[in-house]
Amino acid sequence: MNNSEAPKILFMVMDGLGDRPHPKLDGKTPLEAAHTPNMDHLAQRGMTGLMYTIKPGITPGSDTSHLSLFGYDPEKYYSGRGPFEAAGVGIDVQAGDVAFRANLATISPDGIVVDRRAGRITGDRSEIEELVNSIEIPGVEIIFKLGIEHRGALVLRGENLSHKVTANDPKKTGVPEKQIKPLSPDAKKTADVLNLLLAKLKNELPHLKINSERKSAGLPIVNTILLRGAGKMVSIPTFKEKHSLNASCVCGGGLYEGIARVLGMNINKNHNGDGTAKTDVKSKVNAVLESLKTSDFVFFHIKGTDSLGHDGKALEKKNFLERVDAAISPFLDLENVIIMITGDHSTPCVLYEHSVDPVPILVAGPNLRRDHVKRFNEIDVSCGSFHIRRGLDLMPLLKGFIGVTKKYGA
Ligand code: ZN
Ligand code: ZN
Repeated sequence: MNNSEAPKILFMVMDGLGDRPHPKLDGKTPLEAAHTPNMDHLAQRGMTGLMYTIKPGITPGSDTSHLSLFGYDPEKYYSGRGPFEAAGVGIDVQAGDVAFRANLATISPDGIVVDRRAGRITGDRSEIEELVNSIEIPGVEIIFKLGIEHRGALVLRGENLSHKVTANDPKKTGVPEKQIKPLSPDAKKTADVLNLLLAKLKNELPHLKINSERKSAGLPIVNTILLRGAGKMVSIPTFKEKHSLNASCVCGGGLYEGIARVLGMNINKNHNGDGTAKTDVKSKVNAVLESLKTSDFVFFHIKGTDSLGHDGKALEKKNFLERVDAAISPFLDLENVIIMITGDHSTPCVLYEHSVDPVPILVAGPNLRRDHVKRFNEIDVSCGSFHIRRGLDLMPLLKGFIGVTKKYGA
């Protein structure tokens, strides 16, 4: 097949899409209760089924499930969320780096965590970034960058660093900030570096101008940084190297942009999407259409479904799905594009958390098979023909559909 004729792949992931029956929806799932004519139309045109994004019995995180969906075994490439968060805020994370998610936070004079988000601090926080990056500890390079509000990432670069350390973030307020401890003998250097860094920060942060301004405005000051999600970046092939496809990403930022960056995807930021349930889906859809002109593979991520699942808001999740469905109507007119729609895991509103339930999936495209399923939801697709036992098996199938894979045998 001539490469210019090969179909492209639109890879749409609605985070936490899968759900369970909900009493507020007459015992239907949000996707089942939602009026979704466009997704239903695609389901009628293509194949549907249920998928375990990692494997049966595993409750997926968003990071591990996305790696798996993209064809990267998380057992090989994942040691913690830090490196992907760091890439998401724009740090050029390299193999061997140890990275953490970081929160700007407020502690009391006796070390009790008062506010894990320092009042969701906004505005110019460059003074804090500059201070952290200026701290010198022999043998390590310290790289710190902030994202939205109190969120950021810390990267340690140097010899003999380990991600096997505990967090100083107690993950709740009213308790002391924790000491960072090594979880294995080879992690002592890393724990020492972090404890030294945090001690220096506790001395210097209170003197920053931003903090005196916050103090006089009655706002919580930033006097520590809470670290969690330690991970070591491993050497990882790019999406292009692994799949021979030029890939782009349209997402609301954060972790998803981080994963896409680590895999060398182009990031299309030409949209107003923000990763919340209020996101401008239409502008993201336009960005997807634009990226399909230049890329073989477009990863389109929607986050709001997961957030509403965590909040237990079944009716809102249903309404959001209807809004997404209306926005994707231009996808029905795409030619020579394989459209795949799924979730990275289930986030049932009744559980407020991720679950082991498999996610619905649909694949529709030129000259692909169809099955008899007419509606795209967890219940109807169970009668479909496209069931996947492991997320890792998805990319090989999609690549096979567009003719990228070679014949096994003669
Ligand atoms: Zn997720
Ligand atoms: Zn989630």
